[in-house]
Amino acid sequence: MTTIVVVGASLAGTQAAQAMRRAGFDGRLVMVGAEPHYPYDRPPLSKSYLVDAEVDEERLRLRPTVDPDVLAADWRLGRRAVALDDQRSVVELDDGEQLGYDGLVIATGARPRRLPMADPPTDGVFELRTLDDARALRAALAAGPTRVAVCGAGFIGAEVAASARERGLEVTLVDAADAPLDRVLDTEAGLAVADLHRDHGVDVRLGVGVADIDRSGPRVDGMVLSDGSIVAAEVVVVGIGVVPNTEWLSSSTLTIDDGIVADETCLAAPGIVVAGDVARWPNPRFGGRSMRVEQWDNAIDMGGYAGRRLLAALDGGRVEPFEPTPWFWSDQYDRKIQLAGVVGERREVVQGSVAERRFVQIYGDGTGRLTGALCWNRPRQAIMARQLVTDGETMDAARTKLA
Ligand code: FAD
Ligand code: NAP
Repeated sequence: MTTIVVVGASLAGTQAAQAMRRAGFDGRLVMVGAEPHYPYDRPPLSKSYLVDAEVDEERLRLRPTVDPDVLAADWRLGRRAVALDDQRSVVELDDGEQLGYDGLVIATGARPRRLPMADPPTDGVFELRTLDDARALRAALAAGPTRVAVCGAGFIGAEVAASARERGLEVTLVDAADAPLDRVLDTEAGLAVADLHRDHGVDVRLGVGVADIDRSGPRVDGMVLSDGSIVAAEVVVVGIGVVPNTEWLSSSTLTIDDGIVADETCLAAPGIVVAGDVARWPNPRFGGRSMRVEQWDNAIDMGGYAGRRLLAALDGGRVEPFEPTPWFWSDQYDRKIQLAGVVGERREVVQGSVAERRFVQIYGDGTGRLTGALCWNRPRQAIMARQLVTDGETMDAARTKLA
């Protein structure tokens, strides 16, 4: 019987498993996940879960695994893969179990980057990636602090800041960059995010780093910034990006370069596919640009694709390359911020205005080809924009269609 092992039992891994079962794979499927929980959805953890004590954890469960029998898998939860011998096709787990495979899906995601002075985070300092992290942070926010300091104005920082404000707490948001969401947005759009937070009473400090965690005793007193100022807080949240979980592959022949490097069909080696936050591949839709996308939608699409790709590899079949148009959303206060595609060197607001915090801004490359569109509270245009990028449209066409 053919055995397929999926390492990483979260969004991308379960999508791969589901796609393979749907495509008729009736062999043995082993799901290995380091967390003790059945797969669950992470986006609510920084949003509704933090604000509303009533959010039922059962409702976070990812749909294909609400009933874990649906995938007819052997689950290895709370178990970590510690080594891969891809020459012998064996995955070794932390309890010494050796899992032989015919096909392997790697979807081990990423973990929070840590400040050197808070590694690991201790009393009063929090990171947010897992359900257990969210439980701990929610309990701390509910325990009656008055002030929260957030290090990093990326997605985690911005969403946690919004959630903490919704709980009525005083919030300071600090980032060394000149604008929030610096990695994915242009500076002006990032500054609009800063203004959105200021509108809601957040003390936003940009262009200044966090030099230290301030503690007089075992509990945290706040953060010391690189300009010498002190931000007093009883709760400190660190959201400074992620590191792909690849260390367990160091003994394998796979290529690791800020993620596991795969070809344009997500194949990292014969019989091994990768998907989700951990995967790096050349996306033909963007001229073969090497991408590693840390977004929910990509984990869904890439997971499903990788599952089908693996079955094709085992059968000797062919597949088209994986060439998605990336997409993300972020909910902050009453704003839904969506980016279809990627920012480009040219940009233009084609509907609404940034000042109103309700707009559509398109991006293009040097030739006038549309690369992406940023939509604030414009969900219909966001869907259209994604299709326009996928269709290879120009900025001129997008201007007309999205105005
Ligand atoms: P992960 O979800 O990281 O899962 C990887 C799994 O592999 C983990 O369970 C991990 O424990 C396990 N694992 C790691 N190493 C091993 C090992 N050696 N052996 C076994 N198991 C292992 N994206 C959006 O687009 N919009 C949002 O609003 C949004 N909100 C988010 C909110 C939060 C709080 C977080 C943390 C993320 C959010 N994201 C959002 C990002 C999105 O959730 C991720 O892109 C997605 O979870 C990636 O899925 P993945 O399966 O690739 O990796
Ligand atoms: P992120 O979006 O990469 O943002 C990290 C931010 O922290 C960046 O602005 C970064 O600036 C800054 N930073 C880095 N080192 C710092 C330091 N020492 N001091 C202060 N700031 C520092 O990562 P994240 O917010 O931690 O999110 C983690 C993951 O969850 C990401 O994969 C993200 O995509 C995902 N997520 C997504 C969503 C969503 O899509 N809505 C929501 C939540 C989480 P530089 O860029 O200058 O390094």
